[in-house]
Amino acid sequence: MRSRGCRVGSVVLRGGTVIAADGRLRADVRIEDEQIAELAPDLGGSNADEIDARGLFIFPGGIDVHLHFNEPGRTGWEGGATGSRALAAGGGTMFFDMPLNSTPCTVNAGEVDRKRAALEESSIADFALWGGLVPGSIGDMAGMAERGVVGFKAFMCDSGLPEFPRADDATLRDGMTEAARLGLPIAVHAESEEMIRRLSETYTGTSVSDFLASRPVMAEVEAIGRAVQLAEETGAKLHIVHVSSGSGVLKAHEGRLRGVDVSIETCPHYLFFTEDDLHRLDVVGKCAPPLRDAEEHGKLWQQLLNGGIDIVASDHSPCDPSLKKSRDFKGSWGGIAGVQSTLAVLLERGHDGRRLRFERIATLLAGTPAQRFGIPKKGSVAVGNDADLVLVDPSADYTLEAEHLHQRHKISPYLRAMFGGVVRRTIRRGEAIFVDGKITAVTKGRYVRPSY
Ligand SMILES: [Zn+2]
Repeated sequence: MRSRGCRVGSVVLRGGTVIAADGRLRADVRIEDEQIAELAPDLGGSNADEIDARGLFIFPGGIDVHLHFNEPGRTGWEGGATGSRALAAGGGTMFFDMPLNSTPCTVNAGEVDRKRAALEESSIADFALWGGLVPGSIGDMAGMAERGVVGFKAFMCDSGLPEFPRADDATLRDGMTEAARLGLPIAVHAESEEMIRRLSETYTGTSVSDFLASRPVMAEVEAIGRAVQLAEETGAKLHIVHVSSGSGVLKAHEGRLRGVDVSIETCPHYLFFTEDDLHRLDVVGKCAPPLRDAEEHGKLWQQLLNGGIDIVASDHSPCDPSLKKSRDFKGSWGGIAGVQSTLAVLLERGHDGRRLRFERIATLLAGTPAQRFGIPKKGSVAVGNDADLVLVDPSADYTLEAEHLHQRHKISPYLRAMFGGVVRRTIRRGEAIFVDGKITAVTKGRYVRPSY
């Protein structure tokens, strides 16, 4: 129960520019009882608290549909407390936690309950949960759906964790059939296990180049094609996580043209870096699928600018620093910890670099995530929605330093990078949870179930 001191009264954001899906509008925003109560130019005076939003753009709070806070069980790697603070500092107000790398993994109803309880204690952001699809977990999917998961995540290749084995094609097909029955999407990590395993036997070195050669674009494209085909056959909704290449996006589009219900996610690191950067970043930039060459990177951007990509999510995947730093490239943990920088990357490289419109950024980070996964009352700045808002100052810039990061371990590939646009304030259900560089949250985040 919340104490009376935490109750959110009436607040007016005065003089900002609201980013709505269909355009921008100079308007004041009145927040009452956690929701957006009024949205209009020059709202009349009242006894509400006022926040000066002149010169600021008001975005909907970001909904990060793909990250790993590793709670419960691996909070030494991150945890909901630090992870959600980093999310808030980057302009996020809600996240979907993946079924790994918490331990045990979230593959049955009991583990959904445990993770929910843990995050209700620790997170300052609202959250939803992904269930896991692994061999043997199909009988548990209905129970997880009852508990309100947004869908089920499967790996088509080795996940890196023995306790979360990959879904072979038969498991994937049966899992999709069950997911279609339950009306929930399947999310896949699409890389071909067979191709990666064979190529790893050829490229046995420990270098960056060997790693890249063992996980080519073709391994991603082939697996996306297979997943799309299985979704077509079973009628399942399919979400392809972290597509790293323009060719991968085009492969998914082939299915979409045939009427398959497929959504495409990419991550900020694929938009910010290429494989040339990986030689410099070394283990800090290791992820799977890997960073791509300039040509695929360019094609990925082209798809993003043309509307061919639906969602951008962080895939924040931290680990204990010892799993990165004291190991050679091959033996190090694959995962980039960039939850705080998703909006920053789209503002810097998208808006400033490529004229990506603010409206489109809001759709990629909030509008489509809410719509695709049935998240009620979130995703856009509209009367009646939760007051999940981010106030951005587009005229300020900064260089990211380790002390800016709120995540548990200050390891990020974006350190020392320059970003145009500063998050001044993040508001979750009417409460300012991040203001001018500081976490100000008093209440905790809330578990959210999809409603279609
Ligand atoms: Zn992931």
